[in-house]
Amino acid sequence: MHRKTRFWSVFAVVGIMGMVLAGGSISHTMQVIKKVPTTHKVVALTFDDGPHPKITPTLLAVLKEKDVKATFFVLGENAEKFPAALKSIADAGEEVANHGYSHKFSRQLSDNDFIKDVSRAEEAIARIAPRPTLYRPPGGGYTDRRVMDLKQRGYTTVLWTVDTRDWDGRSSNDIVNNVLSNVKPGDIVLLHEGDFAAATPAAVAIIIDKLREKGYSFVTVGQLLQYYELRE
Ligand SMILES: [Zn+2]
Repeated sequence: MHRKTRFWSVFAVVGIMGMVLAGGSISHTMQVIKKVPTTHKVVALTFDDGPHPKITPTLLAVLKEKDVKATFFVLGENAEKFPAALKSIADAGEEVANHGYSHKFSRQLSDNDFIKDVSRAEEAIARIAPRPTLYRPPGGGYTDRRVMDLKQRGYTTVLWTVDTRDWDGRSSNDIVNNVLSNVKPGDIVLLHEGDFAAATPAAVAIIIDKLREKGYSFVTVGQLLQYYELRE
């Protein structure tokens, strides 16, 4: 009798702990991640719209020289066009994530076509790199329904905190200043790969040096999620 009671109390405690743990992980994977609440000085650099035959090697050289790992939200279409560039991202140990197949904005697609676009990109990426688990919608548009559908497919939806607007032809100095004056612990920085963002690799080299001087370290988005501190 005594033993039986103890058995059930242990069972109940384990059950409650399980629910608490599951609740903790659900609370941040169910929502859209724009930043991670943390007191640690960590930042994630993210590069959208690649891979790109010219910009990817330049960017990877910078990241290698600085010993930084970042997250690349690539397009399925570009993964198919430039498989060698995508392979070099994966081989360098950078994180490869899904940015859809052909950069269609969320509102241009029905719910059904949206998830098809995500899957098509996933298949193109997974032929070359590890199957992605992070998704960023082109333009940042989303609905709760789509975030749920993505979750069911194993994806966490990721947006950003600091928008560098590096795609509009601004100088690397402007990109650097934008990041330095806005970045806070747990932030996600939005940058791009492409001819339209030619100043980005040079800016990234300076951003890394300057933020390190301020005590920051760099992690991938996947690693950043591990810093999520639940606050009461
Ligand atoms: Zn994009």
